[in-house]
Amino acid sequence: MEKSERLFQRAQAVIPSGVNSPVRAFKAVNGTPPYIAGAQGCYIYDVDGNEYVDFVCSWGPMILGHAHPQVIQAVQEAAARGTSFGANCEIEVKMAEFIVNAVPSIEKVRMVSSGTEATMSAIRLARAYTDRPKVIKFEGCYHGHADSFLSKAGSGAMTFGIPGTPGVTPATAGDTLNAQYNDLDSVQQLIDENKDQIAAIIVEPVAGNMGVVLPRENFLQGLRDMASEHGIVLIFDEVITGFRLGLGGAQELFGVRPDLTTLGKIIGGGLPVGAFGGKQEIMDMLAPQGPVYQAGTLSGNPLALTAGYETLSILSERAFYAELNARAEKFFNEFEENFKEAGLACTANRIGSMACFFFTDGPVTDYRSAARSDTALFASYFDGMMKNGVYLAPSQFEAAFVSAAHSESALARTLEAQRKVLERLRS
Ligand SMILES: *Cc1c(COP(=O)(O)O)cnc(C)c1O
Repeated sequence: MEKSERLFQRAQAVIPSGVNSPVRAFKAVNGTPPYIAGAQGCYIYDVDGNEYVDFVCSWGPMILGHAHPQVIQAVQEAAARGTSFGANCEIEVKMAEFIVNAVPSIEKVRMVSSGTEATMSAIRLARAYTDRPKVIKFEGCYHGHADSFLSKAGSGAMTFGIPGTPGVTPATAGDTLNAQYNDLDSVQQLIDENKDQIAAIIVEPVAGNMGVVLPRENFLQGLRDMASEHGIVLIFDEVITGFRLGLGGAQELFGVRPDLTTLGKIIGGGLPVGAFGGKQEIMDMLAPQGPVYQAGTLSGNPLALTAGYETLSILSERAFYAELNARAEKFFNEFEENFKEAGLACTANRIGSMACFFFTDGPVTDYRSAARSDTALFASYFDGMMKNGVYLAPSQFEAAFVSAAHSESALARTLEAQRKVLERLRS
């Protein structure tokens, strides 16, 4: 790790904490982050020549694996035609048509450059549509780093125990209310206490930023019913689950339709893309037709949308998800079995090709039960896996992703490394 260490040192002199996104600093696992020289398929390579089987997959986007030839070729061809026009291009229309066709509740969609922009814009729209100020979110859910969402947020904020953040005004913080995931009563209570004040309920339909937490039966439908009854805009943040759990995302899988949906990660195919969409009546409030301002110099960028569109085209090939999910299920089964055999307290929350293995007896159904995990034990386990060529997210509270590029041999190698690490942890 010599070269990585040197780069990290140089970085710390000129980049805050040496990183452009907090989780990359490896603080929760007391390690030195590797500097990545390249990636191919399910493998990533660091500047010191180490090879890892990658289960971070860039935090979700790389569902086809890294550097998929078809995606790369399309991006190269698009780049040769120019990287940004600041004007309309055909790929924007094709992308919007694809999303509207694939995602059940989306009638119109606008492209942005990150998931954060998508959720931020969706909330503004919900506030304008309802003419109400407040938003209900759930403890442990992460919706990007816009001011409105940085209250008991998941992902890095949970990893580093940052419940709120300086720089967010009391007024903004006061407009964000936290309910408990999987607890409809906690939502009802907030609605009752803030009569005619709630513009939106925003939720990850499968939570993926406090580890993985599945919605209880009727949780999502219950939110739908409450939102409808009280004139609240229901927003599904499908930045992770969109095109991960299937072409129609979690809303198709669970059969619940939100009013607005936010997308990101996979739809950019590894380039910076986000999107928000939903009911035409709400979306048409956007400028210039409507009064709600929202814009972006690089929104609908031809290079980024080409990577995304090419990725989505491959995902829509027959049996893509059936095959990916079957492979992931078999692998996660064996992975879970290894924990059991090692006699470690471990709760496996999984769905399709995403999973989290919590170092706790469980069950893990919300932020508080997730937070009971033994994060020190996780750090040792993480370190062992890394040294044995397996790259996991450097935090207990993140998902592991299997991509279509994870070969049988890579998965077998991972299971072998895991058995070795668990054996050492036990002794
Ligand atoms: C990653 C993520 C975001 C933020 O997306 P960025 O592109 O990082 O801004 C929002 N919501 C969810 C559910 C996410 O997982």
